Amino acid sequence: MENAQRERDAQSQDSMGSHHHLPTHEVVLLLETDLAKGLSSEEAARRLERFGPNILPKFRRHGPLLRFLFQFHHPLIYVLLAATVVTAFLGEWVDASVIFGVVFVNAVMGFIQESRAEAALDALASMMKTEARVRRDGQTVRVPSEDLVPGEVVLLESGDKVPADLRLAKVRELRVDESALTGESVPVEKADLVLPPETVVADRKNMAFSGSLVTYGQGVGVAVGTGVATELGRIHQLMGETTQLATPLTKKLASFSTGLTVAILGMAALTFALGLWRGRPATEVFMAAVALAVSAIPEGLPAAVTITLAIGVGRMARRHAIIRKLPAVETLGSTTVICSDKTGTLTKNEMTVQAISAGDWVFDVDGAGYEPVGEIRERSAESQGLSAEASLEGSVSRSDSPAPATPHVALPPALRELLAAGALCNDAQHLERDGRWTIVGDPTEGALLVVAKKAGIDLNRLHEQFPRVEAIPFESERQFMATLHRVKSGGDSVLYLKGAVEKAIRLCRRMCVADGTEQVLDAQAVLSQVDAFAGRGLRVLALARKAFPADTATVTECDVEDGLTFLGLQAMMDPPRPEAVAAVRACQQAGIAVKMITGDHALTARAIAQQIGLDGRKHHENGALIAMTGQELAAIPQAELAEVADRTAVFARVSPEQKLRLVEALQSRRHVVAMTGDGVNDAPALKQADIGVAMGRGGTEVAKEAADMVLTDDNFASIEAAVEEGRCVFDNLTKFIVWTLPTNGGEGLVLLTAIAFGTALPVLPVQILWINMTTAVALGLMLAFEPTEPGIMMRPPRDPGQPILTGVLIERIVLVSFLVLAGAYGVFLWELDRTESILPARTAAVNVIVMAELFYLFNCRSLELTMFHVGLFSNPWIWRGVTVMTVLQLLLTYVPAMNRLFHTAPIDGFAWGLVLAAAVTVYVVVEVETWLRLQWKRRMRSAASTRRSAYDHRNDA
Ligand code: ATP
Repeated sequence: MENAQRERDAQSQDSMGSHHHLPTHEVVLLLETDLAKGLSSEEAARRLERFGPNILPKFRRHGPLLRFLFQFHHPLIYVLLAATVVTAFLGEWVDASVIFGVVFVNAVMGFIQESRAEAALDALASMMKTEARVRRDGQTVRVPSEDLVPGEVVLLESGDKVPADLRLAKVRELRVDESALTGESVPVEKADLVLPPETVVADRKNMAFSGSLVTYGQGVGVAVGTGVATELGRIHQLMGETTQLATPLTKKLASFSTGLTVAILGMAALTFALGLWRGRPATEVFMAAVALAVSAIPEGLPAAVTITLAIGVGRMARRHAIIRKLPAVETLGSTTVICSDKTGTLTKNEMTVQAISAGDWVFDVDGAGYEPVGEIRERSAESQGLSAEASLEGSVSRSDSPAPATPHVALPPALRELLAAGALCNDAQHLERDGRWTIVGDPTEGALLVVAKKAGIDLNRLHEQFPRVEAIPFESERQFMATLHRVKSGGDSVLYLKGAVEKAIRLCRRMCVADGTEQVLDAQAVLSQVDAFAGRGLRVLALARKAFPADTATVTECDVEDGLTFLGLQAMMDPPRPEAVAAVRACQQAGIAVKMITGDHALTARAIAQQIGLDGRKHHENGALIAMTGQELAAIPQAELAEVADRTAVFARVSPEQKLRLVEALQSRRHVVAMTGDGVNDAPALKQADIGVAMGRGGTEVAKEAADMVLTDDNFASIEAAVEEGRCVFDNLTKFIVWTLPTNGGEGLVLLTAIAFGTALPVLPVQILWINMTTAVALGLMLAFEPTEPGIMMRPPRDPGQPILTGVLIERIVLVSFLVLAGAYGVFLWELDRTESILPARTAAVNVIVMAELFYLFNCRSLELTMFHVGLFSNPWIWRGVTVMTVLQLLLTYVPAMNRLFHTAPIDGFAWGLVLAAAVTVYVVVEVETWLRLQWKRRMRSAASTRRSAYDHRNDA
């Protein structure tokens, strides 16, 4: 009932249809809302109940039945189905039903596993909830996008994803990328117009459609459609969606399986022809051919790959890295360069102003964190200390300059105005919650509020006396923010600007000196002060002011191009994240170069890079870390860029376009590049990078859309963790393949030998199916749960072009295949001779193969280390699998029904002794082989390091 009502409401929402031909006030009336105040919380809740959440229904291209049937759509399954039919045709009903049963169970397992993997990926997608800024109860608040209702007043700014269909009521240079909707990749400029009713969707300039991305500017709009009643909802209904489970690796493996199947079919046909030619009965020959075909196909492989990838994705999510595109899981393991932002990723993004330069005075500020307690002291004259306590009763008054906001008389006028400017040109809030001071908004701005409070400025009073009229918001490429304020006490309005020093200083002609008077700007002196601050790793902001006529209502970028008065500098500390220091070191050990690409000043960036340990031999020149600015980068010819990019550790004042150039340059040197980004303009670089990494907290929706991976904690250490997990995923896949192929190889060899020698088959097709299916699920899949190996980050990155199986691994697969052959065939012949009965002899042979696989599973837990290095109990899943498999084998051997179905028979203690001896031999031989290889590798490594130190020694000398 409720759903039906909702559907009707959604339809009525739909039929309210287009709003582009109505003036804004009519839309507001129609939707019973208020542009200034928004909806009330109660009304929003009522409408949410009525219209339902603002989401699109999950929509799959195929229903469960079809997805189940797809499990049979596989060349090797065709082979098995054909075998079923022919076996039935030959009257072998039990065998036919067992083969079909196994195929069916396999399809069920495949279906369940695939659904689970898809569900896990879907769950990840829903972890990436977006939020929207709306007006409710007269306040601007952030709400989950899915709670948006028709009538909601939504605020947009660059980087946002439009959360619903909006009729725009106010725009400021608003540009929206509607490519998701219209395919048009050039952003559309929006305007608050009334359009003719027949205007088509692509031309509705007064609407912003759900799912499109704001690339520039700001806007306010009224939600006129949510959920399915949006343009996106309509398209979504048409297209549907599927979770993509394919990656380059799965595709490679799929074609490998197909090739293998063809080869096997050829061999099976040959066996069949050979048998008939030798005059053996058709049924027997056919069964041998089927056995061969069944034995050599690694049935578990596709499922194992999907599951291993899905488990890897889950583990990465737990370590704060959400994978948006599955191939990234593989690529992460091959990453050779990580280009990271500085602020917030390598540093804590907890800013504290530590030094101030106002007029020709320099002040130090005490205190760390956001608590507004600390002294501001003039550096050279301690006696002039200005304590927060001394100026708590600060007042704001005007002096002779245009409209300085001045607090307490004890503060020098230049310092007073500098602090007030920082607090006014500011969108952050400084709040005390549960006894703790926090910042809502940009921490850079938060720090300016804290220091103003430390000087005793009453922020509420300040805002009352200097109400804001207009603002030019901060954008990365603009590098400044400006706000225009009316002066309550009369006189000119004043504009305050804050931003990167190089930018701000270009706009100023004059500067404010200590007593508040003005003189011609001494840019050189300012810049050397900046260098002094930045050399300490401080982030420096410049502040400036400009007077405007009292009635000025708007300002644009053109109005601040010239004629500003420089007020001073505020320099803040942003300490490195301790975990980033460790993560950078781990990356370097893993052969991954870490580069800092930041919008900040070069000296600040270099100082922080040095604190973080972002060096490495080749990144040094004359003992100093190589740092380069965007300007220097622009001057480098394209041909040399790759070499320079490779050599440089720090790139400062870099524009988003340069980020793209850097990624391309590094890729041209065959690097696999991970690149972080958070702004709208970072999207091209994120897309170009092999792994685009967006920030979950501080990043824009545009950046997240473009990224392959999103960090939920914005922390560099999470990238390192994801790389580690990526390497682990690849390791575990390789382990599965190295484990599974000898089963097929061993079985194939056993059958070929039997056929060649003309003996009875030691294992039958149904038994082979049993072995392949049960061991893959109960044993092999447990390798997907292997934790990362010790020393995984001490290896160099994997070359993406490198085949999965290296020479060493192929050798191992061949070795184990022959060990399985020797064990199974030997035990079969022995038992045949001893018991003179084929059934127990076959049962023993089956048990040899299974037990050999079981013991060999422990060998495969690491491809390079022995079990003693890995730890016997570090993966509990292995033990669960071993228990299940043992129980299954006992059932197969001793339960009469199973005996009938699988042509097995109980075996005695002696036979078990042989079985275990054969299995343990496999384990011991492989373990010894691994140990010998390890010793050899160590010897090679120590020889290499001796050679290297001799070389260094010679060079130093
Ligand atoms: P990163 O690129 O490592 O995150 P960043 O935060 O310094 O570093 P941007 O956000 O591009 O990079 O900022 C560039 C410069 O703009 C900063 O160094 C600073 O001088 C200035 N800036 C940053 N935030 C603001 C702000 N809210 N208002 C004014 N200027 C700012």
